[in-house]
Amino acid sequence: MKKAKKEIATKRMHMLFKNAISNARTDANLAERQAITAKKISMKYKIRMPYEIRSCFCKKCKKFIVPGINSKIRVGRSNVKSIRITCNFCTHTYRKIIKN
Ligand SMILES: [Zn+2]
Repeated sequence: MKKAKKEIATKRMHMLFKNAISNARTDANLAERQAITAKKISMKYKIRMPYEIRSCFCKKCKKFIVPGINSKIRVGRSNVKSIRITCNFCTHTYRKIIKN
């Protein structure tokens, strides 16, 4: 019973997040709300947010940032494969190591 609820919640979370990304360009406020709702669902049901969802929240100001819309992405040039994400809201930059 509880497992089924969690499954539904996970689906809802993904759906909301998908919508948030597609709305980010046209309606940033709506996108932000949908992203926050998705985050709330994950907290309420203790669902671990997948990597691609977590990486769309700024580490500093916690805002919902979409690559190419309100965040900049640079690929690192060192041997370690990494990307740099810069938040357009607080200009905080954080690095992500890409593992193969
Ligand atoms: Zn930020």
